[in-house]
Amino acid sequence: MSSIVDSFHRRINYMRISVTDRCDLRCIYCTDRSVPHLAHDDILRYEEIHRVVQAAAGLGVKKIRLTGGEPLARLNLGRLVELVVKVEGIDEVSLTTNGTLLDKYAAELKEAGLKRVNISLDTFKADRFQRITGSDRLKDVLRGIEAAKKNGLEPVKINMVVLKGINDDEILDFARITDSDGWHVRFIEHMPFANTEAEGNGLVSVGEMMAIIQESLGGLTPCLPKSGNGPAKYYQLPGAEGTIGFIGPITECFCAECNRFRLTADGRLRPCLLDDDEVDIKGPLRNGASIEELERLIQEAAALKREQHHLGEKSAPVKRQMRQIGG
Ligand code: SAM
Repeated sequence: MSSIVDSFHRRINYMRISVTDRCDLRCIYCTDRSVPHLAHDDILRYEEIHRVVQAAAGLGVKKIRLTGGEPLARLNLGRLVELVVKVEGIDEVSLTTNGTLLDKYAAELKEAGLKRVNISLDTFKADRFQRITGSDRLKDVLRGIEAAKKNGLEPVKINMVVLKGINDDEILDFARITDSDGWHVRFIEHMPFANTEAEGNGLVSVGEMMAIIQESLGGLTPCLPKSGNGPAKYYQLPGAEGTIGFIGPITECFCAECNRFRLTADGRLRPCLLDDDEVDIKGPLRNGASIEELERLIQEAAALKREQHHLGEKSAPVKRQMRQIGG
């Protein structure tokens, strides 16, 4: 079978697919409210996404993650899951969601073949949730987390973007819940995207997060063998059932191990989150491209993948917003 190996010898076997640029939350680190939404016809149909997945699977892609915008804001996501899980070569389909609609859809998604979910949650405080997301739906998210667990979409991982001066005083609460309730929590360094409200907010580094936890809650033991196959490094508090992950796109750049590329909601292959290079696949798809032609476009995108991103404390030098790219 052919495979995708980029110019820096990285094997690409993981595709993140954004199914919509719309979201029911307006997170201050993610959204530039002035950017308009895509028109309905600009968004890839499920059958079109399915075809891209078939081509990618033929090149050795094994894992698919559905994301957005908010993927559950798109109707009948279960139908896409059903299509994608059946593609030969695909081992796992997972979802990244803000959780607001998960209570409603968890059972249906599990039935469709979804393996697991990552849920974004940045605070346990209702007023702060409103400040960060522009919404009062914290209770829905907490219900969504329980629904994911109840329906066996596990391990459920909770992603917290740590925002300096906004929610960094909750690092310990999120760490403690890995012990009290067995949650799996991942702390993510804030990437400053241009024209977002949190752009100039400053950074809490992974090193600082770890120091805060270790100072108050004791040593963090690395989980061995390394759990997960993404960029997070996992640890546990003494005796805790759950894990604590750290993702440091800024201070602990993981580009050398990057195995992924993205498909945007408007049908562009994007080899790197933080680089604007893209290859249009929607046009060829709608002009009847064969699987071989789609494979060629995927290889073309992989060849554009840069060695490393250049995001420092200054804003990401990318034109698109997270919700447009698919985080
Ligand atoms: N709506 C879904 C959600 O909330 O999980 C999926 C899309 S969201 C863009 C995917 C992930 O990207 C979330 O975990 C979110 O917290 C993260 N994210 C968005 N903007 C970010 C930023 N500026 N820095 C770090 N992580 C960010």
